[in-house]
Amino acid sequence: MANETENRLLTVTGLSKTFGYSGKLFQRVAPVVHAVNNISLTLDRGETLGIVGESGCGKSTLSRALMRIIEPTAGTITFRGRDITTLPPAEMRAERQHMQIVFQDPFGSLNPRMTVRELVDEPLRAHSPGTKVERLEQIAAALDAVGMGRHVLDRHPHEFSGGQRQRIAIARAMVLNPELLVGDEPVSALDVSVRAQILNLLKRLQRQTGTAYIIVSHDLGAIRYICHRVAVMYLGRIVEEGPVDAVFRDPQHPYTRVLVAAVPVPRAHGRRERVPLVGEMPSPLAPPPGCHFHTRCPSAIARCAVDAPELRVIGDGRRAACHLLTPSGPAAPPITEPLPPDAGVAVPEGNASGHMQSENETNNQGSNHT
Ligand code: SF4
Repeated sequence: MANETENRLLTVTGLSKTFGYSGKLFQRVAPVVHAVNNISLTLDRGETLGIVGESGCGKSTLSRALMRIIEPTAGTITFRGRDITTLPPAEMRAERQHMQIVFQDPFGSLNPRMTVRELVDEPLRAHSPGTKVERLEQIAAALDAVGMGRHVLDRHPHEFSGGQRQRIAIARAMVLNPELLVGDEPVSALDVSVRAQILNLLKRLQRQTGTAYIIVSHDLGAIRYICHRVAVMYLGRIVEEGPVDAVFRDPQHPYTRVLVAAVPVPRAHGRRERVPLVGEMPSPLAPPPGCHFHTRCPSAIARCAVDAPELRVIGDGRRAACHLLTPSGPAAPPITEPLPPDAGVAVPEGNASGHMQSENETNNQGSNHT
């Protein structure tokens, strides 16, 4: 238990983030979006947690809220053993040297007017008391670590490809040796041929530095390749979480099964049953009652439309939120109670939505962002 506590880098408990929208004229109650709804998760030092889900599920909001780039509405965040949920701005700024983020778009995330030297120096000047010469050595070492080298110091972002820009963004994020790096779709904007290079770079840097990662992505191939654990989100909630190999090999939640089934399987590994996902994700402004997934779930029962399942341990280091799963382990009972026809359950036909890539594809390709 002592080891577990010492190794714990981040504990998020009951984190929520709501956004208010101005309502229509004469509308009594302005609509509220629960972008992140009562999420709890942990991250150990040196570990990589993937957060996956369709566009609009709240995964990027979650990553920003747990870093307090946007302020959470509720919940607590304990980072490096310290409750940072309500730290004053000056103390939070100081804490940020230990938590950095790489965004999706390497073209938009780097100031085009700054040189590479200035870009990587910026966080050092903000957080490190070293001299200019000492900082230059740190900048050069960070650029070496991402495979760029000091010869790029006086060049500007527009002189580089997307993959090279993402390497610069990673150097800028890693130059302070953070304990946590959040990657918000870090390879999604990159050419397929560059994605694997950036993922391999992140893996190597983690081996060398022990930095923990949270990788937000809709690309299951990338998540499977780089992560130790994965949390699957749907409409602001985590619906399944566990070791990445177990979740991909034997997904338990119906939504995870749909996502995993959409990932192409190498021919040598045989066929995987396709589980179609129909319909659009409901508007976060008016999420369905009960289980948010019930309008698209091929296994829904009547209870699902009125009763929201809790995220519970289902054994083997895994958690899932589904009425068909028992806390002692996966046990999907036969569906004996059909959902009423007016409950709006989608008919399971058509193709799964969302782009998923297999690990093999990812390895043969490349992509990146900051
Ligand atoms: Fe489907 Fe019901 Fe499970 Fe939700 S609780 S995932 S609707 S079976």
